[in-house]
Amino acid sequence: MVYDFLIIGSGIVGSLLGRELARHNKSVLMIEKHVDVGMGTSAANSAIVHAGYDPQPGSFKAKLNVRGNALWDHLAAELFIPFRRTGSYVVALSEEEKKTLEKLLEQGRQNGVPGLRLLSEEETKQRLPGISPQARGSLFAPTAGIIDPFQANFFACENAVVNGMKLLLETRFEDFLWEEGKICGVRTNRGDFYARWVVNAAGIFADEIMHKAGVHPDFHIVPRRGQYVVLDRNSFSWDKVVFPCPTEKGKGILVTTTIHGNTLVGPTSENVSDKFSLFTTEEGLREAIQGGKRLVPGWDVRWIIAQYAGLRATLMPTKDFLIEVGEVPGFINICGIDSPGYASAPAIAEYVVELLKEKGENFELKPDFNPIREPRRLLKHLSPEERRQRVALSPAYGRIVCRCEEITEGDILAEIHGPIPARTYDALKRRTWLGTGRCQGGFDFPRVIEILSRETGVAVEEVTKKGGSSRFVFGSVRGEHHEV
Ligand SMILES: Cc1cc2nc3c(=O)[nH]c(=O)nc-3n(C[C@H](O)[C@H](O)[C@H](O)COP(=O)(O)OP(=O)(O)OC[C@H]3O[C@@H](n4cnc5c(N)ncnc54)[C@H](O)[C@@H]3O)c2cc1C
Repeated sequence: MVYDFLIIGSGIVGSLLGRELARHNKSVLMIEKHVDVGMGTSAANSAIVHAGYDPQPGSFKAKLNVRGNALWDHLAAELFIPFRRTGSYVVALSEEEKKTLEKLLEQGRQNGVPGLRLLSEEETKQRLPGISPQARGSLFAPTAGIIDPFQANFFACENAVVNGMKLLLETRFEDFLWEEGKICGVRTNRGDFYARWVVNAAGIFADEIMHKAGVHPDFHIVPRRGQYVVLDRNSFSWDKVVFPCPTEKGKGILVTTTIHGNTLVGPTSENVSDKFSLFTTEEGLREAIQGGKRLVPGWDVRWIIAQYAGLRATLMPTKDFLIEVGEVPGFINICGIDSPGYASAPAIAEYVVELLKEKGENFELKPDFNPIREPRRLLKHLSPEERRQRVALSPAYGRIVCRCEEITEGDILAEIHGPIPARTYDALKRRTWLGTGRCQGGFDFPRVIEILSRETGVAVEEVTKKGGSSRFVFGSVRGEHHEV
């Protein structure tokens, strides 16, 4: 079969574009090298739908961030994505830094960001109890918001799949297939696949794929690592999104709430040479903690329950997004999507479709496209009466597996047997938020492994955290036989 489109990469960019294409009369194949969708940078960021005052006026980033921000309300409503317009604050910690706020305000106005406002020291301190006593004022951006980055990515991809997009996991792009100077498909570890258009949405690896297509050999991605700590929401509550003044290294170490109520502190900004350095370091965590305390001093490192790192895909030398259709026939190039790539992703999808229309591609809406992804509501979100009814119908909902997050066996089964079946512990975590509480999976994971083993028909020793060799169980202790 020759697909209309083949998308490499199931991050937020690939997933939203896949859904946009599946909305129309197009056949779409998505390939993803990992065992689940959205395991790349889209799973490790600050989860902020930025307002758009930060990018350089006139850049792709500026245009697509502001447009993308505006598109999230509708998208979140259709896909039932947890999304909240919290507003954000950039705080000046000296008189000198107040000049930066004015510059950002001007930049934001040029970019078309609505509602930006400078706040005095008094109003800043009033609105942000707990902010550093050094605060001298702030820039308030009412349109900024926070999102569940895992679920937004997954829900978009699932909605595309339900509407006809074919998804192949554990399928790695290796090279292009060519026909008379035109790209006509890809070679993967699972064979060759053909398409009229191949889309490069490979995140941090997008430059390597772009080079294989023979495009921009002089451009390359510098991985810029960001490290974070996550605070226990039972110990500390910070319901704000607060940035320091940006520097040449980026937006700086922020203190933000997640959509689930945890406080996130980070990210650092370190250029690294290896695209696999997705680990935290003592130095990085120290920097994140110091940066966070400089802005919001009143929290304790003993409240840290998790840490993680993500890699920004900064395209050098331009440092802007690169989005182009058809320079090489059959190739759509989406490269350098670093921050604010998450906020911009809906607009990137929209923009690519516009470019394709300009190239003469005919788009007709599919009459049976269903934009709505009905939520599989977790038991904890039901009323007492609804809970009783659900447990009566399916007793698995009566068994709590994750105590901190109150996730039941029924919730887990729904994801294992969903349209994009969860096959690993982390896939369940991304879909249900299990294992993210104070005990960080200490209570639930043996039970989750048993359930995954039973439902997917693999031995407990073969159940993984995130695919590959990330197993939990390596054999029996004292020769005991393990019954599942
Ligand atoms: C520290 C940090 C903080 C950030 N904070 C924010 C923020 O607050 N707001 C915001 O808007 N943006 C933020 N970003 C940026 C945002 O996370 C990214 O722009 C966005 O997630 C990029 O999405 P993507 O789909 O391009 O890439 P990814 O999510 O990385 O997806 C690419 C996919 O391609 C797959 N892939 C790669 N190579 C192959 C291959 N050979 N074959 C098959 N599949 C392949 C990968 O496995 C991956 O799943 C942040 C980024 C970082 C690192």
